[in-house]
Amino acid sequence: MPNWAIHLIVPLLALLIVIRREDWKYIFLLMPLAVVPDLDTFLTQHRALLHNIFIPVVFLILGWKFYEYRTIFIISAVYFASHVVLDMFGGGVVLFYPFYDRMAFVNASLSIEQPINIIYTFDYGFSEYSSGWKNALGYITDSPGTGGLVFVLLAGICQLYRNKLKRYQ
Ligand SMILES: [Zn+2]
Repeated sequence: MPNWAIHLIVPLLALLIVIRREDWKYIFLLMPLAVVPDLDTFLTQHRALLHNIFIPVVFLILGWKFYEYRTIFIISAVYFASHVVLDMFGGGVVLFYPFYDRMAFVNASLSIEQPINIIYTFDYGFSEYSSGWKNALGYITDSPGTGGLVFVLLAGICQLYRNKLKRYQ
């Protein structure tokens, strides 16, 4: 399953590509929303209560209704939707909770092994919501995820330092 580094970096990258520069502040301010869905781990329906299609849709409807705040609502929708999509590719989510209680999943992987062998998997559909998810532990990061976050954080520090140097010139 994706770690929080992936959950943060993927929508961040997508939003930086799509959203105009003057609205980038909202991208950074709303970044915690990328991991908020995992708070349902504390409740009994992990990967269901906050891992469904309806929350991003509600954000989009709000953005359509309150047009002057649409950028904020669209960014929020993207953070929630990207979390749901990534989890769908990493085990599955109850996409139509509470109306349909099976887990939508996509399994698409590609790997290489010696000597020269390329193995791919592609599968999708709905699977049973297993009781395992009910007791799932909040999964934050694995070791490569920590390394990835440190790498991105260092880039941020370099950029801050560069801005500081520019100010003194
Ligand atoms: Zn999740």
